[in-house]
Amino acid sequence: MSQIDLFGTATTPPSDDDPLMGQQVRMPERCQCGSVIARIGPGTATHRASVRCSSCNRHRAWLSKKTAAWLEAVAQKFGAPEVITLRTKNSTDSRG
Ligand SMILES: [Zn+2]
Repeated sequence: MSQIDLFGTATTPPSDDDPLMGQQVRMPERCQCGSVIARIGPGTATHRASVRCSSCNRHRAWLSKKTAAWLEAVAQKFGAPEVITLRTKNSTDSRG
């Protein structure tokens, strides 16, 4: 009878360790379904994260690393509000 596994059963951390995942944001423009609330999801190799409509799941926008860093800062500063309002001051780089 071996009981050497006392220290070997570490609980696996949640996979969604990204604080931005699931964060709700208020978009500056309405979705085609009329909702302004979107939800942050996984990104790609070139985009930090995606933003999808929380109502119809339509793709709304991509999050740049800069915007994502700002969102993380806001979440830390204000204790992760339920909905963070997104502002697009400079939308010059919004090509497809
Ligand atoms: Zn929508």
